[in-house]
Amino acid sequence: MQKSQHYLFMEALVRRIHTTDLEATLFQEEFYRMQAGLSGELKLKNRLADYHFKSDYFILYNFECMNTRGFSHQIDALLITQHFVLVLEVKQISGQLFYKPAVHEFSRRMENNIEENLPNPFDQAYRHQLFIEQILHQHHIHIPVVHLVVIANYRAKLDVSLETMPILHLSGLPTFLENLSTQFPPTAYQVSEIQSIFLKMKQILPARRQIEPSRLKSGVFCTSCDTKTPMLFHSGYWHCFSCKAKSKNVLLDALHDYRTLISNRISNKAFRQFTGIECRFAAKRILAQLNLHTIGYKRTLMYVIPDEILWINLEFFSYVSRFRS
Ligand SMILES: [Zn+2]
Repeated sequence: MQKSQHYLFMEALVRRIHTTDLEATLFQEEFYRMQAGLSGELKLKNRLADYHFKSDYFILYNFECMNTRGFSHQIDALLITQHFVLVLEVKQISGQLFYKPAVHEFSRRMENNIEENLPNPFDQAYRHQLFIEQILHQHHIHIPVVHLVVIANYRAKLDVSLETMPILHLSGLPTFLENLSTQFPPTAYQVSEIQSIFLKMKQILPARRQIEPSRLKSGVFCTSCDTKTPMLFHSGYWHCFSCKAKSKNVLLDALHDYRTLISNRISNKAFRQFTGIECRFAAKRILAQLNLHTIGYKRTLMYVIPDEILWINLEFFSYVSRFRS
């Protein structure tokens, strides 16, 4: 499952935000919800992988793009068949779910009897549906487009007020798809024709948040244990106080966090501030070893942290020797 840029941002943010930060708990809660969402999407993917489609189909997971008005669409899954196109919105939520159709109010009651309103998933999915329809019309493709909200947590209880709404438990998806195929006869369009329209539009949207670097913990952190004390750099390795692990590659995780949270360009000074290496020349040596692309000259010199920074392996051979030999 491809994680969105926003997911990666939140994942790094909860790792790096100062524990005393006023919004630390808020960020943590948001990330928990995103983790639940991702696990729901994985369940959907597994369920669809198990389903036997009787004709050609294509599924785009986590389909992100911008519309012409400059607003974003993030669709959990877009299922394309010769019969129909289905917008799937997955929810991994617990409790008892209720709906008031007249006022579009979606709510839940938790086990402790606390009630709360949740963002209306039908309106979200319908907004995506309208967008998909519009795109298809622009391409002169006339195929039914429908939306469905899928509840991936089997423990959630759906109130009778939801019975007429396009919502069901994940286990009911195969039956729903069978019924749709019967309801809508096959069109003359090829799945590949429709899929290529959306593949061309697919974008990787940036994270929906930004963070002041001063609100983040600096340092290189151990990935073998959970200690919050930064590792110490000496003799070419990062050493963990707590579990005594030593590693070179943990630096890459720190640089990945920097890239995700702050920028994909880093100066020698920012590198020292973020990693805790005090010596300017040691920092220069380490950065040179990474063989990163650079921009600028002398005082304005910036190192570009690539998307594939975690693919580099510093443990057995250096990046330099690997690519220069
Ligand atoms: Zn450790």
